[in-house]
Amino acid sequence: MRKRPRLAFVERPSPNFNERKGHEISFLVLHYTAMDTAEAAIQRLCDPASQVSAHYVVAEDGTVYRLVAEDKRAWHAGISYWDTHTDLNSRSVGIEIANNGSSPYPEAQMQAVIDLSQDIANRYGIRAFYVVGHSDIAPDRKQDPGHFFDWKRLSTRNLGVWPVPTMDDYRRSQLWGDLEVIQGLNKLGYRSNITLPTLVTAFQRHYQPEAFGVGGSPGIADAVTKARLYCLLRRKAIGDGVRASQAKRKNKKKNDKSKSGRKSKR
Ligand SMILES: [Zn+2]
Repeated sequence: MRKRPRLAFVERPSPNFNERKGHEISFLVLHYTAMDTAEAAIQRLCDPASQVSAHYVVAEDGTVYRLVAEDKRAWHAGISYWDTHTDLNSRSVGIEIANNGSSPYPEAQMQAVIDLSQDIANRYGIRAFYVVGHSDIAPDRKQDPGHFFDWKRLSTRNLGVWPVPTMDDYRRSQLWGDLEVIQGLNKLGYRSNITLPTLVTAFQRHYQPEAFGVGGSPGIADAVTKARLYCLLRRKAIGDGVRASQAKRKNKKKNDKSKSGRKSKR
């Protein structure tokens, strides 16, 4: 078996963090820096006046910089929402990827992002549906990590979920109107009090990047948008069910243990 190389970091501590207020880490949030170089972004993320930071910055050449310890709350998400959860800064690890927003991500950088993300997701047991982009959790304000980011590739490592709709998914979603689409997007995780075109655009940045290519029409839910959303909801419902029964079993075990503990004390 190939041994995975140990992750190496360059330390560039940022003063921009505070405490997590008791929240557990259950999300991984990916960003692009929207700046020309990694160094310029790091300087900004370390500047006390900027009031922003992230746990990690991944440079174009794949070098990973560590700015904030994972047990601290970095300031990357801002006002944010996903799947009923708010204040994602308190609940996530944030990775900034050096990219100006209009160019593809180099291979060395993608590989480093994947290795780092997988390590984080494994250590905290982050579910695939909770590996999200900044544009997912703040769709009316943010566009990162953008449609150049290869979410499909990440999903092959259980980081995020890539929808591959069946014929049945197409059939069942084809009559969806605006209401069903917006309800579906909310069920997947997106905030509800945002206009449909904005939400659809955010969804497409993540799950239908070809909508931003030649001939595409971002913001309009077409048959592919609907089928991919339907497919994701179907898979999320299965995942939610499994997690609910796991939690139930865990609770039962805990209760049985405390019952037998009480007995043996008698
Ligand atoms: Zn961002």
